[in-house]
Amino acid sequence: MSYVFTPAPPASVPVQGRTERFPVHRIYCVGRNYEEHAKEMGFTGREPPFFFLKPADAVVPVNAGETGTIPYPSLTKDLHHEIELVVAIGTGGKNIKAADAKKHIYGYAVGLDMTRRDLQGEMKKQGRPWCIGKAFDQSAPIGPITPADKAGDVTKAVIYVQVNGKDRQRSNVSKLIWNIGETIEHLSAAWELQPGDLIFTGTPEGVAAVVSGDTLVGSVAGLGTLSVKIA
Ligand code: MN
Repeated sequence: MSYVFTPAPPASVPVQGRTERFPVHRIYCVGRNYEEHAKEMGFTGREPPFFFLKPADAVVPVNAGETGTIPYPSLTKDLHHEIELVVAIGTGGKNIKAADAKKHIYGYAVGLDMTRRDLQGEMKKQGRPWCIGKAFDQSAPIGPITPADKAGDVTKAVIYVQVNGKDRQRSNVSKLIWNIGETIEHLSAAWELQPGDLIFTGTPEGVAAVVSGDTLVGSVAGLGTLSVKIA
């Protein structure tokens, strides 16, 4: 195969304990998947899960023990952090049942769904797509993927993010409205999942703004920490 110009190498994420990297196919994100976050965004009750995407090359892979850097993005005055458990798909499939979902999971990571909240809010108001608020360049910092057999029980893991050493979000993955299996069931009914897909499973309450110079440290118990500085 030859191309009219050299294609970019695939976006990829380091894997704990491996030199080989996890190549990213797509990034799916679940909206409003913790009740207290749904409330703070002005919604209540259990609605069917809904999804949006970020481009694969929005990932900003951060190695264990290092601090990644992202620029303060253009066009916004309200850049928000959303700390999330990320599920990495190793085996694809469609119409996957929740009970079978585990077989499709390669591993888990800590991710930040960075959000231009002012632009997202404006798009919501106008009934327009969220892309400009959610799918911008470098909007998905992510730590190394921990293979599932080394991750412990992420379904009951503490999840938090601190900004400049102070708690901003702190909850537990057990509070997901749609758990990991149910999310994969819904997602794979709409798209055929592929190896390399990442699923940002949603964020708990406490989303708030960051500014240039802030350092975010987030974690999901068992998956290490993700450290990111806003340039
Ligand atoms: Mn999110």
